[in-house]
Amino acid sequence: MIINVASVLKEFGGKISFEGKLEIPALSFSGGEYSFCEPLDVRGSIVNAGGGALSLNADVSGVMTTQCARCMKDIEVPVEFGISETLMRSDENVPEDEDIIVFEGNEIGLDEIVENNFIMNIKPRYLCRKDCKGLCPKCGADLNEGGCGCENDEIDPRWAALADMIKNED
Ligand SMILES: [Zn+2]
Ligand SMILES: [Zn+2]
Repeated sequence: MIINVASVLKEFGGKISFEGKLEIPALSFSGGEYSFCEPLDVRGSIVNAGGGALSLNADVSGVMTTQCARCMKDIEVPVEFGISETLMRSDENVPEDEDIIVFEGNEIGLDEIVENNFIMNIKPRYLCRKDCKGLCPKCGADLNEGGCGCENDEIDPRWAALADMIKNED
């Protein structure tokens, strides 16, 4: 999605609103894979904030496919995040120490901005359900579908105290 900001650049307070669908390619990040069966909905605005700076604000929503961190099954997860960026044209006096997106001419490409913001909003892990039991560390069976018959003597330390309590009740 390309936004032409020629009219916004003309004066302080100038504003353009936009709304549309934006396709981002499947991507891998920090061991996780993320893909999108439908383009993401993007709506927002770009405002001339003065001093050569434009401020971009947008909301992005959609659905992505990724894997459950425990059982590795594909799951669909809602995507929802906000974007807030400052942009300046390359011929302006762009300060080096600030997080400013530099663009050329009168056009701003939203794809890369949305993609980078998507990555910043990825959570450390996604689960198919809160209590997903994951895979058997020995045979790899999906423990959500019942026991696999392996003997698992390693007890999660968080449950060890509870297991002790149950033992003492006998
Ligand atoms: Zn799972
Ligand atoms: Zn097993």
